[in-house]
Amino acid sequence: MARILVTGGAGFIGSHLCERFLNENHEVVAVDNLLTGDRDNIAHLFENRKFSFLEQDITTYLYVRGDLDVIMHFASPASPVDYLELPIQTLKVGSLGTHKALGLAKEKKARILVASTSEVYGDPLVHPQQESYWGNVNPIGPRGVYDEAKRFMEAMTMAYRRSHGVDTRIVRIFNTYGPRMRMRDGRVVPNFMCQALQNEPLTVYGDGSQTRSFCYVDDLVEGITRLLWSDEQDPVNIGNPSEMTIQQFAEKIIKLSGSRSPIERRPLPEDDPKVRQPDITKAKRVLDNWGPKVSLDEGLGKTIGYFKSKLGLEA
Ligand code: UDP
Repeated sequence: MARILVTGGAGFIGSHLCERFLNENHEVVAVDNLLTGDRDNIAHLFENRKFSFLEQDITTYLYVRGDLDVIMHFASPASPVDYLELPIQTLKVGSLGTHKALGLAKEKKARILVASTSEVYGDPLVHPQQESYWGNVNPIGPRGVYDEAKRFMEAMTMAYRRSHGVDTRIVRIFNTYGPRMRMRDGRVVPNFMCQALQNEPLTVYGDGSQTRSFCYVDDLVEGITRLLWSDEQDPVNIGNPSEMTIQQFAEKIIKLSGSRSPIERRPLPEDDPKVRQPDITKAKRVLDNWGPKVSLDEGLGKTIGYFKSKLGLEA
């Protein structure tokens, strides 16, 4: 059994990773400064004696006593609204936080998996996005703080692998949804679901023709876990290739939640990618035929159930 550190362990994906590792009987240390993470996401894990939590800002300090076998580096604001409000923190955790996580991995001789993103492809000119595509990122636009921090993270990770022989893994995560997303994080899934459940207008940005491809968190966690224990050291896309327009997505949420909400148009945020779809050929090949298993309707149904209870709307 391994001893695993999860940075951003109280976040959406981080908390699901902690849970998965504990279920497999590993020991888990979660670190989070609770800037966008939430103690509620891990409250149920505290009774497990193999779980511990450190409230720390990893941009200034990251140390854990004892041996570590694995570091999962998942700390970062992850919603465009969050990184607009927290631009410096977003840059710092992707750069300084990554440096500290890599340094700790070197010191402990631990394997490290870093959470990169489809945002490294920017507003992509190649569709769907393969790992070999270098991207189309605006470094000085409002999203640049996240995109460039994550690109720096990948570069730093490769440097530690090449110069120090650190055992690294890089996952590029595409749009993911599921229980424990923050209700007001501003991303399309919590926004549309909370709006629909309260019969408020769904706010579609732009003309709604931009596309995204949504992956349920359990499928993502399975892919990440397989990558962690694989030998693949180059970046791997993990996501669900089923692509749709945001207008179609709004209509789907209204239908699935039985809502009476209308759809309203809002201005399209600057540099909002026009299309996004993962090419998961590589993941399939190197991760033992991994692919998403949870259908969109099933995953969205579970997530609507989660937001219903968060809003105090249980049937
Ligand atoms: N979006 C929208 N309405 C919202 C929130 C988001 O139309 O209330 C759009 C947004 O412009 C983008 C897509 O939904 O095209 C996905 O946005 P999200 O913030 O979830 O993440 P992104 O994929 O852009 O990183």
